[in-house]
Amino acid sequence: MKNSETIIDVLIKNFSSLPGIGRKSAARIVYHLLKEDSFFTDNLSDNIKKLKETIKPCPVCGCYTDAHECGICSDATRNKKLLCVVENPQDIDIIESTGAFDGYYHVLMGLLSPIDGIGPEKLNVYPLISRIEKGEVEELIFALNPSVEGETTALYIQKMLENRGIHIKVTRLASGLPVGGDLEYVDRMTLTRSLLGRTSI
Ligand SMILES: [Zn+2]
Repeated sequence: MKNSETIIDVLIKNFSSLPGIGRKSAARIVYHLLKEDSFFTDNLSDNIKKLKETIKPCPVCGCYTDAHECGICSDATRNKKLLCVVENPQDIDIIESTGAFDGYYHVLMGLLSPIDGIGPEKLNVYPLISRIEKGEVEELIFALNPSVEGETTALYIQKMLENRGIHIKVTRLASGLPVGGDLEYVDRMTLTRSLLGRTSI
């Protein structure tokens, strides 16, 4: 903290570094917090602390969980033959909300982007390959954003499987998704249709 900087300035900077929050919104939040009572602000800061202390990646799929394994991975009634690859944990909630998929998931925690120096070692790629090597998965479904990074990632993983002599069905969500768009902004109907009409790659 610089000498002239107050905690107000520092917190505005903290909030404006969050996704989707510009400086104006950050200032609005900080001035709002000043009006709240200390019960509210204490609770908020405690919960933020608890978030990092209690939520860990699921050792199987990589999504966040407060249990040893996440609810989906520990549900034995789902279809072991289907494995859906997503970029972020939030994508699981979106796909689950369609009710059109009963397999398991694997979260990459990002997409390959050689330009930004993001290679497979920075993502949850190798554990995915080990999971498939166990032999239960019959279809790998890429539910990645239809962007250059999404395509690169899907092709890279497919190549890795081929190089290891693993020949399983590889599909992707059918067209209908906006190119370069986020799964987050796709309506449920479109996503359900593209899940049901997935195509081989
Ligand atoms: Zn899991």
